[in-house]
Amino acid sequence: MKICPNCNSEYEDTVITCADCGSLLVEKPVYDESLEKYKDWDEVYSTPHLYEAEMVRTNLETAGIESVILEQKDSSFPLGGELGEIKVLVPKFRVEEAKQILEKIEGLSNQDLEEDE
Ligand SMILES: [Zn+2]
Repeated sequence: MKICPNCNSEYEDTVITCADCGSLLVEKPVYDESLEKYKDWDEVYSTPHLYEAEMVRTNLETAGIESVILEQKDSSFPLGGELGEIKVLVPKFRVEEAKQILEKIEGLSNQDLEEDE
């Protein structure tokens, strides 16, 4: 199955360009079931560092917000972004709540954090 990256129309594998807009078709991404499960979840934090993601998750869970850490391993990752980026997701209806908590976590927004304080 191929899909138009511009208008999301689906086509047979034999089709090269979109009949509607002329865009070059791409392979339709195959979604991992474990990722499909999180389609109603939204990213609240992304980082290249796992320890930061773990820290965010710990804080969210302490506040009673369910969260999950997803690591982007290949280009079929449905959430976009840079390869190697680690994302922290929470259920969509708790995103605002989660963001407020993240704002209060010291160090996360401070990129120049001193090593030995
Ligand atoms: Zn199209």
